[in-house]
Amino acid sequence: MAAASGELPTLGGAAPTLVVSVRAEDIASGHGQAHVEGIAEPVTLDVARHIACTGAVQRIVTDARGRIRQIETSDRVFAHHQRRAIALRDGGCIIPGCRVRSSWCEIHHVTEHARGGATHTDNGVLLCWFHHRTIDSVGWKIRMNGGVPEVRGPYWWDATGRWRAPTTSPPQLRDRLQRRVQ
Ligand SMILES: [Zn+2]
Repeated sequence: MAAASGELPTLGGAAPTLVVSVRAEDIASGHGQAHVEGIAEPVTLDVARHIACTGAVQRIVTDARGRIRQIETSDRVFAHHQRRAIALRDGGCIIPGCRVRSSWCEIHHVTEHARGGATHTDNGVLLCWFHHRTIDSVGWKIRMNGGVPEVRGPYWWDATGRWRAPTTSPPQLRDRLQRRVQ
């Protein structure tokens, strides 16, 4: 996110970028380790998976000797204009009660890119760093309903399990208020 902000110095024309490498077989099987450039200790596959959700993925195929055979890139990073549009819709992290504003949020693919989820505003929502990394384990559920994000809280938060469409975006809140008044 910092690399994409445009406020950092560039290296050879490209923003400084965090590079995490992982074997495709390990990501698929769920067993193995990932590596962060410049850090000797390996990191867990979860770290690689979460970074893959917000970053660009470049797939490199090598032969048994290590010769590079194929380079593929996939369009899984939300463009700046998509990011601004999502920020206008969601306001900030969409988990109710979370106060993290949009400029500090990441965009989460509601349907994972690896499962065919498009890099489209109808499939991207704002989550803060903490909620993005814990969304699979803390009981919050997110779905898109006609292009609008809906959230269902864990049992301790809402025993009725109702889906809600949260936003903290001032224009969105004003629109909703007006609809209610009319
Ligand atoms: Zn949050």
